[in-house]
Amino acid sequence: MTKENLDPIVISEQQFNKAAAYITDLKRGLVDFLKQPKRINIINFPVELDDGSVKTIRCYRVIHNRVFGPSKGGIRYHPDVSEQEVTSLAKLMTWKCALVNIPFGGAKGGVVCNPKELSINELRRITRRFTVELFDIIGPYTDIPAPDMYTNEQTMAWIFDTYDALNPGENNRPVVTGKPIALGGSLGRFKATGKGCLFATQRFLTKGLIPELKDLSGARVAIQGYGNVGAVAAAEFFSHGARIVALSDSSGGIYAEEGLEPEKVSAYKKEHGTVVGMPNTLTLSNQELLEVDCDILIPAATAFQINNNNAAKIQAKLIVEAANNPTTPAADEILLKRGIYVIPDILANAGGVTVSYYEWVQNQANEQWDLDVVNQKLQKRIFASVDAVFDHWENYLIGDLSLAENKKSLSTDSLPDFRTISLIIAIKRVADATLLRGIWP
Ligand code: NAD
Repeated sequence: MTKENLDPIVISEQQFNKAAAYITDLKRGLVDFLKQPKRINIINFPVELDDGSVKTIRCYRVIHNRVFGPSKGGIRYHPDVSEQEVTSLAKLMTWKCALVNIPFGGAKGGVVCNPKELSINELRRITRRFTVELFDIIGPYTDIPAPDMYTNEQTMAWIFDTYDALNPGENNRPVVTGKPIALGGSLGRFKATGKGCLFATQRFLTKGLIPELKDLSGARVAIQGYGNVGAVAAAEFFSHGARIVALSDSSGGIYAEEGLEPEKVSAYKKEHGTVVGMPNTLTLSNQELLEVDCDILIPAATAFQINNNNAAKIQAKLIVEAANNPTTPAADEILLKRGIYVIPDILANAGGVTVSYYEWVQNQANEQWDLDVVNQKLQKRIFASVDAVFDHWENYLIGDLSLAENKKSLSTDSLPDFRTISLIIAIKRVADATLLRGIWP
């Protein structure tokens, strides 16, 4: 088996190039612009730890594109954060916003640290100092952070508070999204990414591509990652009739053929810090979880979990990418050939940025929409995006977008996968908007 290059930049280039090759009228010189980040900020600063020692913290904020509006993207705290990872995630945000028609560009931030080893006071000091360093980069109309892995509402509250202290006399609430409700957060934001996964899956299943899986009732679901996104997805899928057969977090996984109750799992995790050891479950490794016998697999943790090594062993019929970048291009090829469908990250997890956008809109007017309003708007937008991707896919014949005649003679594995279709739509929208604005000057 050939070894895969797991450099995030290489992978995002492969995905981009594959989609761009289908866009025959894409201006050649524009391709480089669309691939490159607009700006990469690397920041180092010292922070004093609780024991009096000083540690140098490295941070990134990458802005990929601002053609549609201010750049938008989460900030993650993780020891493995790198310039390559943050840059590839910033690109992903551009395509995600374009795909779901949100007037934002893409950005991402990362802080190289291990939040599990830092106290709350150390995290607060790092966050405030990072915000000061980002002072002239972020802003309600320029670049808007949000939570990502190991950051949360509290992190966003500190960013807002620090930015507000530096910009007195202005409505600074829209500078970050994913804030606590009491500070202008949107109702429904916390659950939005998991709910978006649910809506995307429900709509996808109505298309009839998986005849034995028309809806979620009785569908056996395995979820990797039990954080914000994974735990909410578990609860949402469970409450819509799915059987959650396996769950995991960074310590490992659990399996129960008769199904797990997310409420009980969450209570267990709260007490023990992990899902592993939950009574009446079998213990699995994270690798085994991915290969478990199930209908729907939801990777909701880190990147490149489904790759060259395990794609041939995946038993799910549908993969719903709650995490960003969980599947490599080599795995995509294998899954396509095996008839396993993938709802790609830029569609499946777009619920988060969608409600972040609604939060930003509410903050402009200092209003708060009812939860029903937020959820209805979210559902409508995700359904419409799934429809757009599916329609595009259905009408696709390689080399000729308009030709539907020969469609019936095509087997599904000769069509581009849903990631490529989603990227084609998104790249085309950003390319068209760039040309409409005009190349400056
Ligand atoms: P989180 O920090 O709340 O949770 C991450 C979870 O993954 C934790 O349960 C952790 O134990 C687990 N985990 C970490 N490493 C693991 C590994 N190697 N194997 C298995 N589990 C592991 O983060 P989150 O906000 O839920 O984000 C999860 C994923 O979803 C990330 O890829 C993130 O980029 C993506 N995402 C998040 C949002 C959002 O709104 N939070 C939006 C879109 C995409």
